[in-house]
Amino acid sequence: MDASDHRETIRCPACAEEILAEAGKCKHCGEWLAEKPEPAVIEQTDKTWKGLQLAGGVMAVVAVLAIAGGAYEIGAPTAFAGLVLLLVGRGAAWWHHA
Ligand SMILES: [Zn+2]
Repeated sequence: MDASDHRETIRCPACAEEILAEAGKCKHCGEWLAEKPEPAVIEQTDKTWKGLQLAGGVMAVVAVLAIAGGAYEIGAPTAFAGLVLLLVGRGAAWWHHA
């Protein structure tokens, strides 16, 4: 009787509730079903981690130059900060890809 009986439904990948196939957003949990928003976020996250690794690499170079120049007080903390940035960037990028 109801017209909605004939409408195609799919299951929401986020909450597994039944929703209309043509729906752009889940009415139960609010998850966006259109493919556009999600990849953009993932790509942005990847860029953030790559930027973090790049910053760590630059800091490491600065630290090496500072230590080579005898400025240990600048070089040592910069080397440490750069190493932390590199490891966090690497770890996060790996975690997001896994
Ligand atoms: Zn949902």
